[in-house]
Amino acid sequence: MAKYVYFFGGDKAEGGESLRNLVGGKGAGLADMVNLGIPVPPGFTITTEVCTYFYDNDTAYPDGLKEEVAASLRKVEEIMGMKFGDPKNPLLLSIRSGARASMPGMMDTVLNLGLNETTVKGLSVLTNNEWFAYDCYRRFVAMYGDVVLGLKPQTKEEHDPFEEIIDEKKKARGVTLDVEFTVEDLKDLVARFKDIIQSRLDVTFPEDPEEQLWGAIGAVFSSWNNDRAIAYRKLNGIPASWGTAVNVQSMVFGNIGMDSGTGVAFTRNPATGENVFYGEYLLNAQGEDVVAGIRTPLPINKMQKGNGSMPCLEEEMPERYAELLKIRQILEKNYRDMQDIEFTIQKGKLWMLQTRSGKRTAFAAFKAAVDMVKEGLITKEEALMRVDPEGLNQILRPIFDPKEKEKALKEDKLIAKGLNAGPGAATGKVVFNAEDAESWAAGGEQVILVRIDTSPEDIRGMNAAQGILTSRGGMTSHAALVARQMGKVCVAGCVALDIDYKEKTITVKDKKIKEGEYISLDGATGEVFVGQVKTLPSEVLRVLIDKTMKPEESTIYKDFELLMQWADEARKLGVRTNADQPGQAAVALAFGAEGIGLCRTEHMFFEGERIEAVREMIVSEDIEGREKALAKLLPIQKSDFVGLFKVMNGLPVTIRTLDPPLHEFLPRTEKEIHELADKMDISFEKISAKIASLHEANPMLGHRGCRLGIVFPEITEMQARAIFEAACEVKNGGIDVKPEIMIPLVGHVNELRLQKDVVDRVAGEVFGEYGATLDYKVGTMIEIPRAAITADEIAEVAEFFSFGTNDLTQTTFGMSRDDAGKFLGYYVANDILEYDPFQRLDEHGVGKLMQIGVELGRKQRPDLKVGICGEHGGEPNSVKFCHRVGLNYVSCSPYRVTVARLAAAQEAIKQGSNK
Ligand code: PEP
Ligand code: MG
Repeated sequence: MAKYVYFFGGDKAEGGESLRNLVGGKGAGLADMVNLGIPVPPGFTITTEVCTYFYDNDTAYPDGLKEEVAASLRKVEEIMGMKFGDPKNPLLLSIRSGARASMPGMMDTVLNLGLNETTVKGLSVLTNNEWFAYDCYRRFVAMYGDVVLGLKPQTKEEHDPFEEIIDEKKKARGVTLDVEFTVEDLKDLVARFKDIIQSRLDVTFPEDPEEQLWGAIGAVFSSWNNDRAIAYRKLNGIPASWGTAVNVQSMVFGNIGMDSGTGVAFTRNPATGENVFYGEYLLNAQGEDVVAGIRTPLPINKMQKGNGSMPCLEEEMPERYAELLKIRQILEKNYRDMQDIEFTIQKGKLWMLQTRSGKRTAFAAFKAAVDMVKEGLITKEEALMRVDPEGLNQILRPIFDPKEKEKALKEDKLIAKGLNAGPGAATGKVVFNAEDAESWAAGGEQVILVRIDTSPEDIRGMNAAQGILTSRGGMTSHAALVARQMGKVCVAGCVALDIDYKEKTITVKDKKIKEGEYISLDGATGEVFVGQVKTLPSEVLRVLIDKTMKPEESTIYKDFELLMQWADEARKLGVRTNADQPGQAAVALAFGAEGIGLCRTEHMFFEGERIEAVREMIVSEDIEGREKALAKLLPIQKSDFVGLFKVMNGLPVTIRTLDPPLHEFLPRTEKEIHELADKMDISFEKISAKIASLHEANPMLGHRGCRLGIVFPEITEMQARAIFEAACEVKNGGIDVKPEIMIPLVGHVNELRLQKDVVDRVAGEVFGEYGATLDYKVGTMIEIPRAAITADEIAEVAEFFSFGTNDLTQTTFGMSRDDAGKFLGYYVANDILEYDPFQRLDEHGVGKLMQIGVELGRKQRPDLKVGICGEHGGEPNSVKFCHRVGLNYVSCSPYRVTVARLAAAQEAIKQGSNK
């Protein structure tokens, strides 16, 4: 026979965690607590199967349910020594929902059920407290009237009808608080509540407790399909077919006097993860008083109240507090996780009403996971699985002081939201160009550089700024990837902003922000605030990067190191970094990078005067002109490579030959064009015409990538020479060097072949000159669909592959990576795409091309090393996909190296446990 009801109470329960799907999360927790010897008011759970039956059968119940409920109710009565509906000794019940997954506040609850004109009198004699009995009664009638009978506000403007009656009554009586009502007032409220139910709904409030019970059970099942619950399920991916269970439980009261109370607590601090008991309570109160914010709850213990003068439970009821501490330990040991609990003290007796896995900040998740391994509660693998890689990144970044951010939100200072392109929090004065950013910063100001979009000329300004805000550009736009690589906070593609460079203003809705005014950016959420929001620095960065703190001074750092060590033990995937400068490489090494997966050589030209030589090279009409410019660039590039090789100290360094969207390097303003014309002794008109001819519309698929080095081989030649000369010099100085030269944007094997010939020839020449040799590799980026589907041909020449998924996404979707932000937001909001494919790898499309590329490439060259260096290399879901496709490594910006290490470990653990 099917079983629909599971009893819990006394010292034994029928349900528990193993039956969560049937009894729901709340029912499972209650049953577990009973079996662990923790005091729980007795009750029973009606299963989720009944909910499914209820919906499948036009709100009817399965045969046998009524009998099972009646039998369980008898047991509850026995344990409590009370009787449901008894005029003298009435048992009251709470009826609460409880799905498999927690859906806080989405479904309905009825409390104090079983009260009527007779039992209320019994309750008042029993408790010797008439006021209390009628307070419960008026609460019950209102709750039942709303939840079960459906008396709701008739219009959006109307207030809750029961609350309206209460407000009228307060006015008439000249009081402001509920507790100021007399017993007569409460009795009058009950009568008026019943009247309005009768007149509005044409139903008589049920006096029969049995009828009340079944009304409430039906209402809770029905609330599974209310609008709120449906919306919540959709957001959290909870299937409608699961249904909810219903928990019927004996009421216990925290509001019978000062020897009673109620509270909520976490077994650890949910904000910091510290292993300290953390909670709030109120004496002489019911649960809703603690959460509703009408009375300010009190801290549970001395530690939490600090220097405060308010009382705490540890002092007011030391024995109950000690009992709670014991329960805390039992629960953590049982669940091996932080719990969120609810309790009530009725006349000095403690009762537990709920336990569930506690919601926590990313920081607390990390701290609690590491601590629990140390405490022997969980394994290293479990700890690794409990930390969200994206969340882990939070401990590397400055964050807004949570209180300050809350205040800013309350004060309506959030003005817009863009893409969360570079995480962290930053605050500073608005400047509109790179020059001002540099000079203001040099004068000691903190600035935020605000641009419509960014170009290479902005780099120095970006470096000087605390954060970067743009109104155009997606997640892989220039601004976003450069900012991430520099570890800058960045909000990109914030389309709501109207930026006026001339007026030096940002206009957003009806607000105008002028140069010099403060704004604050939350790069983790994409939020933009007006005004200053205080930030807190990261201890891990202070130890690893700024070196302003010693490792032994920071517990957070030590725990972080430990977790990362466990991740490295578990992961199979290598993790490299995208870095163009020795400083960036050093940061990445500190975060655990195992090599450079992408050095974008064009980024090396952003510094100082170099851009001028690049411009000369671009606008030169003939080979002589280009060679003159290249001769200026050679020593510069060479010294850059020397710097990189030295920092990387024998680790592999993948250097990509030039891949610039040419027009980005050219001057834009008339003044700059004049300067270049004077310098090169060419007419202004001629240079302007050249610039116009080089202009590309999005997407940037013109004369860039290897196409440049093929038409102008002298460029590749110079770069190869710079690399090999640098490598020979560093090697002669006693440091090992492993250069990997990578050719970008290859679509046909012939392109790669031509470029490899140049590189190999130059290598031979340089080795001859230096009388030295060294191992090097020549490989290619796979970032054009044609390259992926002809990977076997390409692997005949390429000694390694690296997926450039920024371009591969753009070319696969046929969407420009620079301005797809204009419509991708709409796509995602309207479920056309599940997510932005420039942020998270599109496994079905782009991922399929990668799979084909890996398979074909390794068919041709079985030991082919394959990596990824698009921005996806630092996004956890994409990293996990890379593990599954069998890549050797991912390469990402320095500040995402730890994210990738953890994500790689999680996938390795998951695949390991699937075997
Ligand atoms: C890519 O396309 O994924 C890539 C790494 O190259 P870039 O972003 O420089 O075009
Ligand atoms: Mg590319």
